Amino acid sequence: MNDMVQFSAECPTCKHDRPQIGYSREELIQLLEAGADLEAYCSNCDETWPVSVEERADIARALERSK
Ligand SMILES: [Zn+2]
Repeated sequence: MNDMVQFSAECPTCKHDRPQIGYSREELIQLLEAGADLEAYCSNCDETWPVSVEERADIARALERSK
């Protein structure tokens, strides 16, 4: 089963929320627990950036809720 998690992150260049769909639930949990950077991507600007601490907290909460 494909267990992808969708979250959005604000692009620092264009300031729009961009949906991020490249991570599986398992990957997200591992990266959050390891304190590793989560890369977000904006197709409009062709930019990647690490998601903010606030967004990481939102993702962690979303993962909790969807257990
Ligand atoms: Zn952008």
